[in-house]
Amino acid sequence: MHVPFVDLKAQYRSLKHEIDPAITQVIEEASFIGGRVVDEFERNFARYVRSRHCIGVGNGTDAITIALKALGIGQGDEVITAANSFIATSEAITATGARVVFVDCDPLTCTIDVGRIEQALTTRTRAIIPVHLYGQPADMDAIRSIAERHGLRVIEDAAQAHGARYRDLPVGTLGDCGCFSFYPGKNLGAYGDGGAITTNDDVIAKTVRMYANHGRTEKYNHEFEGCNSRLDALQAAVLDVKLRHLETWTERRRAAALRYDTGLQGVVRCIGTRPDVRHVYHLYVVRVPRRAQVMAFLKEQGIGTGIHYPIPLPLLNAYRYLGHGPQDFPAAAAMKDEILSLPMFGNITDAQIDHVITGVRRALNAT
Ligand SMILES: *Cc1c(COP(=O)(O)O)cnc(C)c1O
Repeated sequence: MHVPFVDLKAQYRSLKHEIDPAITQVIEEASFIGGRVVDEFERNFARYVRSRHCIGVGNGTDAITIALKALGIGQGDEVITAANSFIATSEAITATGARVVFVDCDPLTCTIDVGRIEQALTTRTRAIIPVHLYGQPADMDAIRSIAERHGLRVIEDAAQAHGARYRDLPVGTLGDCGCFSFYPGKNLGAYGDGGAITTNDDVIAKTVRMYANHGRTEKYNHEFEGCNSRLDALQAAVLDVKLRHLETWTERRRAAALRYDTGLQGVVRCIGTRPDVRHVYHLYVVRVPRRAQVMAFLKEQGIGTGIHYPIPLPLLNAYRYLGHGPQDFPAAAAMKDEILSLPMFGNITDAQIDHVITGVRRALNAT
């Protein structure tokens, strides 16, 4: 049996009859940038997230950069984020001219360690970007109360967490802005790059929309210099079709995770799940000893795996200038050699999961 890490081909086969006409319609209408289809998707995604506004942008990295810019953050400012994320999060901070300040993760949940945020604050700190890593919301109540005490902005990196909830509240509405990615492999993925910013604040929404479209108010009237980062209509058409299936896929991901939990209990260490969240399992991550051998064994069994992420951000060459060592981020450093992402996607079957469980158990001689 073959179990790919993510199966976008199977997903397309199941949706072809809906996707193909939606794409054809955009081409026939020849309205490729902005227009009805983009407006409709933005409206539908805002409703899904229960947010007042949704602004489509070019990708998830731009979403974070634009959110920071719209909040007036840039040169001379510091922004706090988690040491264990994809580089897009910190890259977006640097792109504004601000300085990135990394904080270690919680050793159990692997989201930002809220107990270490205040130690990282300086007089220049302007914002916190919690990452809802692997699809699990960060501890937003604690983060918001720190932000309120110190007058900081909160921008959620929800690139892995479409539909996740924290104490019944959807991610994307828990800070000043929520930033989403529609990279093809994300829980809601386009057929190319795409992203969105959600916010309940009318002023932020207006600034974000202008910033993403050359700072313009109307054609050839520009209030300031922005950038060109728009969600195009072909991607919006694909996303609007897929959005109608997202809840089904999310429930499937959650059921798959539960099956993994049960089948691997006592065999591997799992990432801790907070009891008060709806985790949407963008990734199902376990911690194993002898990871390289386990991965090689699974590959022989036709099972795809991944590592998210092999090097904590502050230890990347890109951040050598910050002068950090592993001792500065003990939790992130401890997990980096153990984490293993198992196959997870919206239409994974029980038979596929059972094949992976058997493979992991055999790899660890646990059967
Ligand atoms: C995917 C991802 C991003 C960036 O999204 P792109 O659309 O690829 O630019 C940002 N943060 C996290 C945590 C991600 O997983």
